[in-house]
Formats: sequence, C-alpha cells, structure tokens
Amino acid sequence: MTAFDATREFAQSLDESDPLRGFRDQFNFPDDRDGRRNIYVCGNSLGLQPKIAVQYVTEVLTDWARLGVEGHFHASRPWLEYHRLASGGFATLTGAHEQEVVAMNTLTVNLHVLMATFYRPDAERNKIVIESQAFPSDYFAVTSQLQLHGYDPADSLIEWEPREDELLYNEDLQAILDRHGDEIALLLLPGVQYYTGQVLDMAELCEMARQAGCRIGLDLAHAIGNVPMSLHDWAPDFAAWCTYKYLNSGPGAVAGAFVHERHLDGDGSEQLTGWWGHEQSTRFRMARQFEPAAGAERWQLSNPPVLALAPIVASLSLFEEAGIDALREKSLRQTAYLKYLLDEEFAGEIETITPFDARGCQLSLVITKPNLNARGVFKALEQQHVTGDWREPNVIRAAPVPLYNSFEDIYELSVRLRAAIRANEPR
Ligand SMILES: *Cc1c(COP(=O)(O)O)cnc(C)c1O
Repeated sequence: MTAFDATREFAQSLDESDPLRGFRDQFNFPDDRDGRRNIYVCGNSLGLQPKIAVQYVTEVLTDWARLGVEGHFHASRPWLEYHRLASGGFATLTGAHEQEVVAMNTLTVNLHVLMATFYRPDAERNKIVIESQAFPSDYFAVTSQLQLHGYDPADSLIEWEPREDELLYNEDLQAILDRHGDEIALLLLPGVQYYTGQVLDMAELCEMARQAGCRIGLDLAHAIGNVPMSLHDWAPDFAAWCTYKYLNSGPGAVAGAFVHERHLDGDGSEQLTGWWGHEQSTRFRMARQFEPAAGAERWQLSNPPVLALAPIVASLSLFEEAGIDALREKSLRQTAYLKYLLDEEFAGEIETITPFDARGCQLSLVITKPNLNARGVFKALEQQHVTGDWREPNVIRAAPVPLYNSFEDIYELSVRLRAAIRANEPR
C-alpha cells in the first residue's frame, strides 16, 4: 500500500490517479455555505442525489401525463415490470440470482413480510436471536413478531452482546447457539453494524445458523452498495435492505428483499400474499386462486410505487458503470487514508471503534480527549459545513463514499476537525 502523507497536495494526487473520480460530478452536493463547500460524509444515513435521478422521475411523470393508465404497458419503461429494472443491480450488489431479489416496500416492512414466512415458531423452536445493539426498528420488528405469536420477548428474545470494545465476536454467538440452538427459530443479524461500522462475517454467520438448524435473515441496510456480497452462496434464508443509504435512491425510497432459491418453489400458503405476488400473465383475470409468481416477486403485495422506484433505477446504473469491486477497492483506500490522518494528527484525541480489518465505508470516531466537549466538536463541524452524523454520547460517524467523495474531502474533513477541536478546548 502507498505510504500516505498528511498534506492537501498528497490528497489531490490520490484523486488524480483515482479511476473513479469522474463519478463525483454525477451527484448533487448540498449548496456551499458562507463560501465554503460542503463536506458530505453522511452517505451511511442518506446518500446524495445522482443528477440523473431527475430524468428518471421526470420520465415517469411525463409518461403518466401522456398515457394515463396505458403507461402500464406503453411507458418508455412499462410500469407493469418497472420493479424488475432494479433486479439486475440488486443481484450484482448482493451476489444473488436475479430471481432471488425484488424491489418492494420499505426495509422494516420487508423484515415483517419475510418474518411472516421465515419465523414459524413451534413448541421446540420459537426463540429469536438479534444483536443487543440492533437498530431500534429491527428490535421492534422482532419483539412484535414474538408477541404476535404469543411469546414474551423477555423469555424468547436472545441478545448477542458485544464485548467491551463494542464489537461482536462470532465465538460469543456460537456459545449462544451451543446452549440454546435447538430452541432458536430465527437469527436476524446485520451485515454491517450501523453504529460501529463493523462488517460481520456473513458467510460464517449463515454457516453457524445452518449448523444449529436455525433460520437466518440478514439486514443489509448498511452493507448494500458498501461491501460486495455473495448471498446466493452464503445462503441466508432471507435478507432485506433499504436503498436510501449507500444506494443513493432518495429519502424513504423503495427497499429490496432477497429470498434464497431453495425457498422459491412454495405455493403461497406460507406467506402474506397480495395481487402483485401473483403470476403476472394471469394476474388480471382477477381469479381467487393464487398462482405464485416465479422467484422472490411472489412476496410482493401491492403494485409498486413507480415514481419512488425511478431514482433506484437511476442510481443502480451508476453502480453498474463503476462496479462494486472497484468501489470497494477505493473505499478501502479512503478509509485507510482517513485512519492514517486520525492516527497522525489526532492521537490521544480521537479513536475509532470500527475494526480496521472489518471495515466498510464508515469509521465511527470516538472523541476521547479529556475535558473536551464532544457534542460541541460535532456542532462546530456542522457550523463549518461538514455533514456527518452524531450518536450519543461521543461518537461521530463518518462515511466517505467512493462514488462521490474525494480524497481531498477526507483531508478537508481532518482540517475542519482540527478547527472544531480547537474551538472546544477549555481555555
Ligand atoms: C436505516 C436502517 C433501518 C431503517 O428502516 P426503514 O424501514 O427503512 O425506516 C432499519 N434497520 C437498520 C439496521 C438500518 O440501518
């Protein structure tokens, strides 16, 4: 690996030799403020808007205006099959077969829809395992599923705890499986932990669940568009993700779902059903007999919000052009550079929780300098037009995104961080 240097010129030289540098211009950045450009390191929360998104949305609006209901068949990209335009990109990014993925609903809804199929408790196996720091929505989803089936989360929810360094260790999960494996129906685990940025060994988690005879679902909210995956081979039972974080598809955009091939031959009796999960060629006969569509599309309920799908299709075209492996390579360099700057310039002031050898785009920075008002540092960063995100009590999550962040952004982040610390030092 190149030896790094803590100068602007060095950061600029990294940008000059970056084969992906052209993608930055294809995104809209927040407006300059007080003559200062925005430093956006918040793609883990809401990705920036691809400039072509407006074309894709306008196309749908125009077709609707021109064609009315005929747009289902005659739009430039017919609405009847519009959701399929996301399947190729989803399949590439998750390492799935195209028929294993579908764009539908939103993330938490998909977790529920998929748990309706894959959380099937019985007298022997009825417990669910999550990580104890799971995103609140995932926690609510699993506890409500337990309750709806008549189980008390106090008895039936098992939490995989991180260690003192805030990281998750597979041995600890294995200990849970050794002890309770035959009572556990389902594991619902993240691909990338949202708070620490730790990338979990998804292949191993799937294997551990399989060995214990448990089902496993993955929440890929922070993994999709961030790290390459091989879902088909890893073979979780199901997975779901949102598309507004690293996938840059806009606030509340339509989410994605994966169901492994081995579950794709059901007749629809073990799932929630709606008319859009019905085989398309006979759907409009409006018969009462449910004929399952092929693939994960069978889990669709409603006809999809085409306007909300349009930015996903736009954004996925950029991922296809850039390639997830090239993006990952750049991302590893970018976070290595950020870590280098932190170690060089902020020793004793800032530490990272994120494990360096299991990192994605995000580094979670902890402000450790004594007598420094951490919240004040974050506020001062915001005042300098840095967009990152804050988690109580003292963590700043910074996620350089290889599609649109430059190495100079990372350098500039360090400059503004220094100013923000200075402004908060006790005098
Ligand atoms: C972002 C995120 C969510 C958000 O859920 P929505 O249904 O999209 O509002 C849920 N879970 C995790 C782990 C997330 O990171």
